Amino acid sequence: MLKVENLHVEVENREILRGVDLEIKPGEFHVVMGPNGSGKSTLALTIAGHPKYRVTGGRILFNGENINELSPDERAKRGILLAFQVPPEVEGVKIIEFLQQVLVELKGLDPVEAYDLIVKKAEELWFGEEDLHRYVNVGFSGGERKRLELLQAVLIGPKLLILDEPDSGVDVDSLSVISRKIEELHKKGTSILLITHYGRILEHIDKENVKVHVMKDGRIVKTGGGELVEKIDKEGFAEIFEEVGE
Ligand code: ADP
Ligand code: MG
Repeated sequence: MLKVENLHVEVENREILRGVDLEIKPGEFHVVMGPNGSGKSTLALTIAGHPKYRVTGGRILFNGENINELSPDERAKRGILLAFQVPPEVEGVKIIEFLQQVLVELKGLDPVEAYDLIVKKAEELWFGEEDLHRYVNVGFSGGERKRLELLQAVLIGPKLLILDEPDSGVDVDSLSVISRKIEELHKKGTSILLITHYGRILEHIDKENVKVHVMKDGRIVKTGGGELVEKIDKEGFAEIFEEVGE
């Protein structure tokens, strides 16, 4: 479904990704780990089509189509959703209005139908109806922001969900809800690309079928199974980098 081939990406004239290869088949669960600055967010934002991230080599194929030149909006229409590492505040835009618009545009629901669905799903992510009348992320805690990203994902039901550190800045209780929701989406058939530092977010996820990639300096230097997560949690990255001669 997603095929990243020898991807090179520049940000402000600096090469950040230096030849990334990654293939995600329908329904698969992939995890990307790596130290700060290794290029994880760059990979996520480039797949989602952020204009600041310039592809200087390689291709991104989604269901066989080269999407390098597509706008973020067109990528979203094809089923790619990115949950941001730091979800932005949007002053003046109410959550409910934003989500209604998304459902009307992407799913063809009428606004009333959309409203009811949003309220129902929001409850599962601990948002009451009154919360939905707040502005998007304004004054939100880390946990609330990440839960709101998950709410969008649950409502949209993307083909590919990219989660950029859904566990950063999140309290333990939110972490558990988020982990469960990720697993729920995965079970419903969404392919997942999850970027994380810690194994904890995988608490509710069946690690047997997870593929783990370790990034360093803009490249994937090792790929393995769920056991890599535990190894990294215990030993950090140094050991792995030594093994692969990085
Ligand atoms: P990670 O998510 O693994 O911590 P990033 O992809 O955010 O890493 O960053 C990789 C490198 O690219 C870092 O050195 C960072 O400073 C640089 N970088 C990323 N985004 C930008 C940007 N928008 N402007 C300038 N430099 C950036
Ligand atoms: Mg990052």
